[in-house]
Amino acid sequence: MTPSKPTAIVIGAGFTGCALAYDLAQRGFAVDILERGELTSGTSGRTHGLLHSGARYCVADKEAAIECIQENIILRKIAKQCIEFNGGYFISLNEEDLAYAPAFIAGAQDCGIPLEEIGVKQSLETEPALNPQILTAYRVPDGSFDPLRLGMAFAASAINYGAVFHTFVEVTGFLFDGKGNVIGVNAVDRHANRPVAFQADITINATGAWAGKVAEMARVPVPVRPTPGIMVAYEKRVTQHVINRLCEPADGDILLPQRRMAVIGTTSFEVEDADYIPVDPDQIQNMHKRAAMLVPELQNIKMRGAYMSARPLIGGMMSGRSLSRTFKCYDHKENDGVDGLVTVTGGKATTCRVMAEKTADLVCQKIGWERPGETQHYPLADYHRYYQPRGLQP
Ligand SMILES: Cc1cc2nc3c(=O)[nH]c(=O)nc-3n(C[C@H](O)[C@H](O)[C@H](O)COP(=O)(O)OP(=O)(O)OC[C@H]3O[C@@H](n4cnc5c(N)ncnc54)[C@H](O)[C@@H]3O)c2cc1C
Repeated sequence: MTPSKPTAIVIGAGFTGCALAYDLAQRGFAVDILERGELTSGTSGRTHGLLHSGARYCVADKEAAIECIQENIILRKIAKQCIEFNGGYFISLNEEDLAYAPAFIAGAQDCGIPLEEIGVKQSLETEPALNPQILTAYRVPDGSFDPLRLGMAFAASAINYGAVFHTFVEVTGFLFDGKGNVIGVNAVDRHANRPVAFQADITINATGAWAGKVAEMARVPVPVRPTPGIMVAYEKRVTQHVINRLCEPADGDILLPQRRMAVIGTTSFEVEDADYIPVDPDQIQNMHKRAAMLVPELQNIKMRGAYMSARPLIGGMMSGRSLSRTFKCYDHKENDGVDGLVTVTGGKATTCRVMAEKTADLVCQKIGWERPGETQHYPLADYHRYYQPRGLQP
């Protein structure tokens, strides 16, 4: 029987969980969102911050590239407050880069990504810090987003529809009915150091790189591979555009202006435990070298810091960079005979809204609740609202 107001628990308050809490709450669900740390304290708060145009993936991962350009267009409308509309260049520095161009141009066209070749002279005029040896440059609709603001804007929108955020509440297990179906979770309130329990019609595991670990608690498999990368920030904003190396996805191929800084990223390797990712000095040096190829001045600019986080990539037989950047929703009733539990993982920050929408579609279909998702049509709430005392109107 369809409940009169369905209830949902969302585990994890990264971009995916925040966007999902918003989507479900807007469709009429009463949502509790449980996060073991602070908002975006997993991968989302430590991302590069590139609003992908999809061009980075348009040759080898077209599904992800198409999702990125479609969501890029939507986020530009609904999340203006979080995005710098600076645009991106893909630049070639040698013959090998040039050889990648035909596949790149064809891929962008296949995926519907606007691409414009701009002259070397024009690119150096607009970006004087670029390596003067560049051979070609293409312009794409990349942007920079502010990770904290994006998470907070989705969360504030969810709160406007009544969602309740419980930060520093760590899920430690699931509650089952007599048939082995999930009816809620056990958790620890880390503020008060006491056990708590939540029950709902449906529980959604949106814990990104931790999704496999959390799913294990319900004895169901999720093939997520925590795949970390390092980013290095510099104390000067050296370009206004996002600068990408025209090559297959590789280490240190994206230099991003973030407020007054420049951030180079990233690497890609696998770990067993997303909670333990050491920052390797060799990787920092490699990033530094790669950044200076794009903008030589960076050789002499002070590093502000280096940071790591783990991508939640969906594992198959492949590994690392060959894993797709698309996402997947798992209905554990279909896959494992456990009802009441859905997992969403994979994807990109850029695609968090559509990840949430597809997951909410699945949840609605499961419990027979007919409400379409509308998040693509309305601007997100002001991100400041997340920290305003509840009940106060702007
Ligand atoms: C190095 C790097 C650079 C990236 N750069 C970009 C980029 O430039 N552009 C882009 O679009 N994407 C980028 N991405 C991808 C993007 O950051 C991720 O896809 C996205 O942040 C994942 O969000 P999420 O909400 O699914 O996961 P997370 O942000 O990791 O959220 C999961 C949450 O679950 C919580 N959690 C875990 N276990 C529990 C538990 N037991 N109980 C309660 N809570 C729990 C965690 O604390 C975490 O906050 C990058 C990723 C990496 C690693």
